[in-house]
Parts: sequence; C-alpha cells; structure tokens
Amino acid sequence: GMPTLTIKVVLLGESAVGKSSIVLRFVSNDFAQSKEPTIGAAFLTKRIYRNDEAIKFEIWDTAGQERFAPLAPMYYRNAQAALVVFDITNEQSFHKAQNWVEQLHERVGNHIIIALVGNKTDLLGMQNLNMGVKKEMIEDFCQRENLSYFETSAKTGENIHEVFQAIGEKTPHP
Ligand code: GDP
Ligand code: MG
Repeated sequence: GMPTLTIKVVLLGESAVGKSSIVLRFVSNDFAQSKEPTIGAAFLTKRIYRNDEAIKFEIWDTAGQERFAPLAPMYYRNAQAALVVFDITNEQSFHKAQNWVEQLHERVGNHIIIALVGNKTDLLGMQNLNMGVKKEMIEDFCQRENLSYFETSAKTGENIHEVFQAIGEKTPHP
C-alpha cells in the first residue's frame, strides 16, 4: 500500500484553551460548545493523505490542569511534534504557553517540532481588534524561540487542518 509516516503529536496548554476541541475538529470535523475537561490524557489518531503518501497522526491530548502537569513529560518525551495552545483572548494562557515552550526546549531540546497555536480567533470581532493577546508580544516570542505560529478556531475550523499539515511537512521523512 501507500507508504505511511507516523507522527506522534502532543497538545499542551492551559485548561480550557481548546486543545480537545482542536483535536475533535481535526479528527471528526466536529465542535461541542460545552466539553468536559480532559482527565489525564486522551489518545486519538487521524490519517491524512497527501500526494502519494499517508500521514498517521498519533495524538496525545493532555489535560491542562496543574495537577496533571507532572504527567506531561511522559507524553512529550516520545513526541515528534507539540502543539502548544493558548486562548487568543486570554493573556494568562499565553504566559502559560510560553512556559510550556521553555520547558520543551529545556527538556527535549530541538528534537521536537513546536507549533504555537492561538485558538478562538472567532471571539475577536472586527470591532475589538485591540482585545486579546498583543500581536507584538506573540511575534517577539516566536522569533526568539524560533517557532511557527498559527491562529485557529476550533469552532469555525479556521486553520486547524493547516497546523497538522505544517507539522507533516516539517517532520523529517525517512
Ligand atoms: P481544553 O481544556 O484545552 O481541552 O479545552 P476544551 O477543548 O475542552 O474547550 C474549552 C471550552 O472552550 C469549551 O467550552 C469549548 O467549546 C470552547 N472552545 C474551544 N475552542 C474554541 C474556539 O475556537 N472558539 C470558541 N468560541 N470556543 C472554543
Ligand atoms: Mg481537554
């Protein structure tokens, strides 16, 4: 059959930023207005097809609460890629995302592909462009840490596929 590249992906970020919703949108093209918080971690898979190749994503969706933070290394140690997610309307969640990126760089070095994801773009209407996490702050951080950055909405589906597609493109092919 078609050659398949398997990529292990971990989602990290504060609770309620939309990690599980991003995964649900990507895997099932679905959205739920009220989702139960993830306990520990959830495992899902999704195949995408591009040219003559299949990519199988093995996705670990971690829980955001502090009490689960000690478990995170178990999930990111073996991952090829990490989606570090924050809520674009919540500055606190951006600082938490910065902590995750720093932790990844300290503990796994440059062997992991990191995509920083600002989720919930649908909440930023045209009339309140000044709300939310400041663009310059995000850009400075991405430049300093050499990260790619995506703005997504799990609600509308904006850019969700593109994040995973980009990870597929950045992952070294054997
Ligand atoms: P997690 O704790 O990071 O996994 O976050 P969840 O996926 O459980 O989402 C937390 C809440 O935010 C839920 O009520 C979701 O419906 C909502 N949510 C997630 N993504 C979006 C989004 O892109 N836009 C909006 N408006 N709400 C979202
Ligand atoms: Mg969750």
